[in-house]
Formats: sequence, structure tokens, C-alpha cells
Amino acid sequence: EKLVSVEGVCKSYGKRANGVSALQDVTFHILAGECVGVVGESGSGKSTLSRIVLGLEKPDQGKVFCMGTSLFEKEGCAMRELRQHIQVVFQDPTSSLNQRIPIWRSVLEPLDNFPLVVPPILADVRHSRRETAQKLLEIVGLEEQHLDRYPHELSGGQRQRVAIARGISLGPRLLICDEPTSSLDVYMQAQILRLLQELKEKLGMSYLFISHDLAAVRMLSDRMMIIQNGRIVDQFESRDLYSPQ
Ligand code: ADP
Ligand code: ADP
Repeated sequence: EKLVSVEGVCKSYGKRANGVSALQDVTFHILAGECVGVVGESGSGKSTLSRIVLGLEKPDQGKVFCMGTSLFEKEGCAMRELRQHIQVVFQDPTSSLNQRIPIWRSVLEPLDNFPLVVPPILADVRHSRRETAQKLLEIVGLEEQHLDRYPHELSGGQRQRVAIARGISLGPRLLICDEPTSSLDVYMQAQILRLLQELKEKLGMSYLFISHDLAAVRMLSDRMMIIQNGRIVDQFESRDLYSPQ
């Protein structure tokens, strides 16, 4: 089952002839339960790609399908329904967390936006909002004592755990991880990678794992692509990365 299909996507910024071409004829798909990695240098088009798959940015050419539906041809409700299935974790968790609300409430924001969704991981815990948040934070390995803290009182790694808890709260089919470990020290990087690996097995969701870090992408992904100047220049099974061709 193809969860996401990106077909012949082109995207430029700026209308003039010297406009920046961020993506050129990008085609790939993500199967249900599969982790696809994208590795590239800064400026190669990775963030543009993640924004397009998220439906935040419209391609100039080409199409993006999510569960068989073309992303940009649907309006309002249908688009909203698709959005619940694709969540994202960014490099800098501070940018997506409201500094003024305690973390247990931040974790519930996606659930507040889609009140009718009962994700399978939460089926047995919908007693109180606080218990729901506690369950989500437990899944990502954050102790109960942190529930009432504010984002600035947590370490970078703990904040990224909160962002991941939010990301999985709706039980998405796809979690886009856009440089999820790039702002962390190596110890935290290892811990967050291990957590993402564990969640992949536990929740069976797909990942689009985007990073400049070849080793991190290789660890998590089943298949990987190299992006350079907006083009996919190579793709292979991750286990073949270090094998002689
Ligand atoms: P990466 O995430 O790999 O660093 P980006 O997708 O952010 O790459 O950027 C790809 C190219 O598009 C770069 O040349 C970047 O400067 C340009 N770009 C990205 N976003 C914009 C924007 N909003 N306006 C103009 N140029 C942009
Ligand atoms: P990342 O660190 O995720 O690769 P970037 O630094 O490429 O992100 O981009 C950060 C933000 O700045 C994005 O919202 C992007 O759209 C915007 N941006 C990137 N490059 C340009 C550019 N050349 N001109 C205008 N906006 C840009």
C-alpha cells in the first residue's frame, strides 16, 4: 500500500529566470510502515520537500498523493482529514512549543484540533486530559515529574521528546522527521534515534526521515535517497549503503 506518492514535483522560489529552483522533478513513494530517508546538504531542498509532503507548500508542477488522494486538489475538510494522518517533528522543538503553557497541555494540542479522533495508542486511557498527556509522555520516555514543567525548563532532548509525543498523539500514518537530532548533543542524538526506532516498531507508522546526517538516516530508514540541488541523485536500500556494489 502506497501511503504517500510524490510524482514529478518541481518547486522554485521567485518568479524571475534567476529564481531559486528548490526541487526538480522529484519522484518517490512511501509504503505503509516503511521508513524512507532523505539525506542532503544544507540548501539541497530537504525542508521544501517536507513542507510539500505536509501540504504546507504547493508544488509548481507534479502531484502529491496521500492515501490515494491528491493533496492540493482537495479543499477544507478533506485536506484537514488528510492532515491528521501526517505529523511532523522539526529540528528545533522550541519553535513548535508554546513557552507559556505547561508541557502536558502542549502534548494535547493536536488532539484538541481533531477532537473526534481516538488514536489506537490512547484507546484505553481517555479518562482525563492529564492522564492522556501522561500516557503520551510515558511512551516517549519522559517521567511524570516533568508534566507541569514549561518548555524552557527542559533539556533539548526532553523538549524533542515532547515534540515527538505531540507528533504521535493522533496516531498518524506518517511522521515526518525534519532534522530531528541536529540541534542535540551526540548523547541525546543517540537517545532520540533509539526512541524513534522503538516507536517505529511499536506503532507501525511510516517515517520520512530527513537529515544531513548519513549515519542517522541509515540507522532508521529502510530505503534512502540522496538529494542534491533539488534532485534525487541516488536511492538504495539502507543496508546496501556500506556494501560494495
Ligand atoms: P534544506 O532544507 O536542504 O536546507 P531548503 O528546502 O530549505 O533546503 O532550500 C532549498 C533551496 O530553496 C535553497 O536554495 C533555499 O535558499 C531556497 N529556499 C527555501 N525556502 C525559500 C523561500 N521561502 N524563499 C526563497 N528561497 C527559498
Ligand atoms: P532548515 O534549517 O530546516 O533547512 P532553512 O534554514 O533552509 O531551514 O529555512 C528556514 C526558513 O527560511 C524556511 O521557512 C524557509 O522557507 C526560509 N528560507 C530559506 N531559504 C530562504 C531564502 N533564500 N529566502 C527566503 N526564505 C528562505
